Amino acid sequence: MTVEAFMEACNAYYYGTRDPFGAEGDFTTAPEISQMFGEMVGAALADCWKRAASPADAVYVEPGPGRGTLAADALRVLRSAGFTGEVHFVETSPVLRQAQAAAVPDARWHETIDTLPSSPMLLVANEFLDALPIQQFVHGTERRIGLLAAGLAFERDGDIVEISPIREQVVRDIASRLKDNGGVALFIDYGHARSGRGDTLQAVRGHRFSPVLADPGEQDLTSHVDFEAVQRAARDAGAAVTPIVPQGEWLQSLGIERRAQALARSNPDRAEDVQQALNRLIVVDHMGELFKVVAIHAPGWPVPVGFA
Ligand code: SAH
Repeated sequence: MTVEAFMEACNAYYYGTRDPFGAEGDFTTAPEISQMFGEMVGAALADCWKRAASPADAVYVEPGPGRGTLAADALRVLRSAGFTGEVHFVETSPVLRQAQAAAVPDARWHETIDTLPSSPMLLVANEFLDALPIQQFVHGTERRIGLLAAGLAFERDGDIVEISPIREQVVRDIASRLKDNGGVALFIDYGHARSGRGDTLQAVRGHRFSPVLADPGEQDLTSHVDFEAVQRAARDAGAAVTPIVPQGEWLQSLGIERRAQALARSNPDRAEDVQQALNRLIVVDHMGELFKVVAIHAPGWPVPVGFA
């Protein structure tokens, strides 16, 4: 089978059968590190919504919401800014839908973005695009995985070029909805700002890298997001696109350090934890630099803060 079919089958099973997050699980995402992450997302979306004249029919949308932690934190900020809109999650995993229902009881669920309402959207996707399948090419031929006596093996090695038609289609669909109905979308993920060559397919299990073909469906398979391709797809579909900004810079320009100080002041016994979480989110050799943020928005909507 192709790398794309392998990744699709493995991840559908992996996410469909477990909650993989946190110290006991396989990996920890930014919203699971600290409430500050979701709060900054909420602040960025609330600011955009207000500057777009606070449309009453706007909805909060999150593809791949994990445990629903990011949504709960972002919605606390959005609600206090006066946002009363519906919450729509795009999630295929029944296990994670259950966790999301506990975190955000009034949410509605979709299998794909096709069934989202035709309303202005305040959308955020954190570590969603990296889980969508990629194709790999070696010297122009699509790379496949075969079953040998010794187990699964790549049928071809060499210089690798990756593309993700599925990811680009998702971005185009979101961009075209933004163009037609208004709104803004934030994509946060690890990846590179320029399209390039190289094999970025990786497996993570128990907070460690693992061989990609080991134990299919029992480990998290992801690839680095080609943000340049994301920008191109969004532009092609008629949305406006911001520059790509490292996560650390973005969170700092939204005021995460002030938020950390306030949290530490009101919970002095947790001050050290707050500082540690802040470092993991913004420091360059943690998530500050490898993780990137790009926004796409309706041409008539304001440019979100943090991308100057
Ligand atoms: N955003 C969350 C979770 C990231 S993990 C966080 O930051 O913690 C990836 C999420 O995307 C999971 O919720 C997973 O179930 C979901 N997902 C993966 N592939 C998907 C697909 N094709 N359609 C919808 N959701 C998907």
